[in-house]
Parts: sequence; C-alpha cells; structure tokens
Amino acid sequence: MSVCSVPNCKKVAHESWATVSVCYGHRDEIEDEFVKYYAKKIGADERETYLSIYRLTPWGRIAERKAMKRG
Ligand SMILES: [Zn+2]
Repeated sequence: MSVCSVPNCKKVAHESWATVSVCYGHRDEIEDEFVKYYAKKIGADERETYLSIYRLTPWGRIAERKAMKRG
C-alpha cells in the first residue's frame, strides 16, 4: 500500500489528487484549498498542502522539465 505523498505524513494513501497518492485528510485539505483559491479567498502561495505535492503532479513534472531545459 502506498503512503501519503505530503511531506512528513505517514498515513496510508487511499485517495489521489492529480495522480498523486494522498491520505483522506490531505485530499480534503487540498480540495479545500482549491475551492478557496478559485473563490479568490486565498492566494496561490497559500495553497500549502497542494504546493507540497506540486512537483509530483503531471504539470509539476512538466514545469520541472521545462525549467531543466532552460537552465
Ligand atoms: Zn497525508
């Protein structure tokens, strides 16, 4: 069984967000951040849980590959 991808979280991952395995709690947290962000209640840099797994999402990997090509 896989473990939640959020740093320092040792819970079992039962859910996924953008192909990234996360636990129930963090799935809820990310969804909450997502809703607040699109309701413009928080800024992009305030999506802490989401940002902690961003590099593991498909678009996070694409952004990283582009950054590598540039650098
Ligand atoms: Zn978790």
